[in-house]
Amino acid sequence: MSEPSSFSFRVGARLSGGRHGRAGVIATPHGEIATPAFVPVGTKATVKSVLPETMREMGAQALLANAYHLYLQPGADIVDEAGGLGAFMNWAGPTFTDSGGFQVMSLGVGFKKVLAMEAVDVRSDQVIAAGKERLATVDDDGVTFRSHLDGSRHRFTPEVSMGIQHQLGADIMFAFDELTTLMNTRGYQEESLERTRRWAQRCLDEHERLTAARAHRPYQALFGVIQGAQYEDLRRKACRDLEQLRGAAGTGFDGYGIGGALEKHNLGTIVGWCCDELPEHKPRHMLGISEPEDIFVAVENGADTFDCVNPSRVARNAAIYVDEGRFNINTSRFRRDFTPIDENCDCYTCANYTRAYLHHLFKAKEMLSATLCTIHNERYTIRLVDRIRESIEGGYFDEFKAEALGRWQGRIKAPTS
Ligand SMILES: [Zn+2]
Repeated sequence: MSEPSSFSFRVGARLSGGRHGRAGVIATPHGEIATPAFVPVGTKATVKSVLPETMREMGAQALLANAYHLYLQPGADIVDEAGGLGAFMNWAGPTFTDSGGFQVMSLGVGFKKVLAMEAVDVRSDQVIAAGKERLATVDDDGVTFRSHLDGSRHRFTPEVSMGIQHQLGADIMFAFDELTTLMNTRGYQEESLERTRRWAQRCLDEHERLTAARAHRPYQALFGVIQGAQYEDLRRKACRDLEQLRGAAGTGFDGYGIGGALEKHNLGTIVGWCCDELPEHKPRHMLGISEPEDIFVAVENGADTFDCVNPSRVARNAAIYVDEGRFNINTSRFRRDFTPIDENCDCYTCANYTRAYLHHLFKAKEMLSATLCTIHNERYTIRLVDRIRESIEGGYFDEFKAEALGRWQGRIKAPTS
């Protein structure tokens, strides 16, 4: 039997100058995560094309899977029967699941495809491209949506999301929240934030009930999700409101996710507002970032962990991350380039393969192209965040940031660009 105390967070070194950035350690029933940490995404309980053992060898400390996808296929009950997400996918370390909220409201609605992009300057709550059907509808109780697989109708509520996530059995789960966009009106953002607060209370209540009912399983931590788009008062209010919430037996959130609509240039400011308000002793997860600039800014302003699907997604399209930026390995100048992707990288791919070989694999549409490039990009991102953590612990974060971003932003010219 596991007690709630099997989840903890301790803060280590901090950045100077009153900044919120820090190093720390999250302890879960499946092991510890030294923070800041990058959490690779295995959407459907697999990091596409890479073995879990390889993810472990390259230093991944935890993996994140998506509740929406696993609910539709194979079904959360099957993952539960298998002994939970980690056992099902042969990953012994810590796991995260998201709530499914982002997917039901973005995949379901098809935000990127359905939203009329020409209307980007118009603040509206019903911006849908001509000829497209809105596939998800939000009401005060939950969200009704259609599966992207077969069009079948489904409904997520806070209770449904908690039930799915308890069955998936990840060490860290997220409360079910409403995703808004920067195009929503201020009035809608306020209304949505209040709905997310009420849903957060329902998530805590259901989480408390399920934790008691499933006491034979390892403790699962629940993170509240901070919304509020680009509005300082809404972000701050969301943090204070969620930190005050308790279930009937006194359960509060174990940590927080910073989510929702934000623009790149606002990222640090928004994370900073949230971390002004959130308690020091609880971990903070930043949802969906992986670009080096974004990671530095988020860490400096107080984020402890991040997840993003990009390092593996772009790898399958031949895009490679190196310290000097991103380049495509499938362009013809690499046909006879017999050097590694990145001479400074310690990954399996860079130790054993050349740019010419990877170029060939992509041109020949060989499956190994995805595996080798994903290994490099995931290792690159994990190692970058590891180096950031070491720089915080060693007291040289600012120097490391200036050097790394100088390279990334091209002040030091990439040999391959
Ligand atoms: Zn590499």
